[in-house]
Amino acid sequence: LNARNVGTTEEERKTFQRDMPPRRVAVIGAGAAGLMAARELQREGHTPVVFERGAAVGGNWRYDDAPASAEDPLGAAGVDSSLYASLRTNLPRECMGFLDFPFVADAGAGTVSSYSDDPRRYPGHGEVLRYLEAFARRFDLHGLVRLETEVVSVRRDDASTGWKVSYCSRKLAVAGSAEPEVVKEEVFDAVAVCTGTSTEPRVADIAGIDSWPGKQMHSHSYRVPGPFEGQVVVVVGYAPSGVDISRDIVSVAKEVHVARRSLATSGTESTALPNLWLHPMIERAEENGSVVFQDGSRVKADAILHCTGYKYHFPFLGEEFGISVDDNRVGPLYKHVFPPRLAPSISFIGLSLKSLVFPLLQLQSNWVAGVLSGRIVLPSQEGMTEDVSSFYSKLQAKGCPKRHTHDLGECTYEYEDWVAKQCGHEGIEGWRKEMFVAALKNFVHHPESYRDEWEDDHLLSRAHLDFAKYF
Ligand code: FAD
Repeated sequence: LNARNVGTTEEERKTFQRDMPPRRVAVIGAGAAGLMAARELQREGHTPVVFERGAAVGGNWRYDDAPASAEDPLGAAGVDSSLYASLRTNLPRECMGFLDFPFVADAGAGTVSSYSDDPRRYPGHGEVLRYLEAFARRFDLHGLVRLETEVVSVRRDDASTGWKVSYCSRKLAVAGSAEPEVVKEEVFDAVAVCTGTSTEPRVADIAGIDSWPGKQMHSHSYRVPGPFEGQVVVVVGYAPSGVDISRDIVSVAKEVHVARRSLATSGTESTALPNLWLHPMIERAEENGSVVFQDGSRVKADAILHCTGYKYHFPFLGEEFGISVDDNRVGPLYKHVFPPRLAPSISFIGLSLKSLVFPLLQLQSNWVAGVLSGRIVLPSQEGMTEDVSSFYSKLQAKGCPKRHTHDLGECTYEYEDWVAKQCGHEGIEGWRKEMFVAALKNFVHHPESYRDEWEDDHLLSRAHLDFAKYF
């Protein structure tokens, strides 16, 4: 396998570009994944066309201060971004950025790479958007993106081996009925799905919730704490959004009660904040407004805020693809990217969670671009299918629920280094791995202060030494 896989020098790329015809690739989405995919495809000699339903590039990092929809506070509400006003990154910028486009505060003042307005190590969301915009400028990507253009279906093209991509103006799709008017159709050799992981809210299943009288909202619709002033709020979930939002709300709310899974067998705990408590998960909600936790404790709450993550959602893919989302497992997918039966002409970039997201987007994009040009060889369809089956069996044997299929967790480096190897890259830098681990530990032990106090300064000099290569 992979006998032909070679490195990524410009010379090697050119050799393969001579041998293989360039592919016209539809990239769906212009967030971090779509922008990186466009860059890697273009570098490899392909012709990417990026479809983005939003009005600008940046995806989730384009903060939208539209208040939660009164009609659909638990749904996507037609809003793509899931950011709240106070959001700062949950990783230090040095390890969060792309591998060869450092996310630093002094990225060459006065050059196309300059963007910084918030030099903090864990900057606010605006800095990430400026970074992505600078990336798009630096690699001349804006011209490849068709804004306010929503892909509504991807189908096999009967007349060729390619894919028929149907798309329409985003304004039409929003203003129209459930079936948006299809205005145009084009055929592409390949499609890279880069639509993100945070557009379709997942809501906690709570017994009795239908007759519970309070207000409910998903973190997707949360922007500012104001609407919760003086209220008793139950926050469900304690991953980064739940941690942040409970702290955001506690400043104005009467009481905040967090229901979190990791306390399922123990009781309620107080915290350093006088009006914030940690509980096990919710047992039920009652008609009288009470929320009862699994340890028997109960509160009369005004609101429940679901910080419970998202579901994968690909409404534009027809059933003939044979790609299903089953209990949040997107499958079958070889190494989270290629459906064996359709590889390499359909790929998914950015599905993996609990990873170094931006570096991994770069590696997966490079892999897809290299496979499409023939520089990197995939196993046979049977080989990929077997690999997927054995991966699923391993997850089952470990007792890992299907819905965590794409959570890399402790396997994150193994996977990232594996993809890097396919691409002829050295892999994720040692300092970046150490910094990621240090940041996660700091988050777990100091959720109030991890963004402003840390103990891994010794890794910064190693990071900046590496970054010097790219300036
Ligand atoms: P997105 O940024 O979601 O981009 C997908 C794009 O696809 C969007 O622009 C959307 O409009 C477009 N699109 C979707 N469907 C269609 C269609 N049919 N046609 C055309 N366009 C379409 N990661 C970190 O590394 N650090 C962090 O600190 C961090 N914090 C986060 C905080 C929150 C609250 C959330 C939700 C996520 C956070 N993440 C963080 C993860 C984040 O998802 C990634 O950083 C990154 O945004 C993923 O990029 P993406 O391109 O895959 O998806």
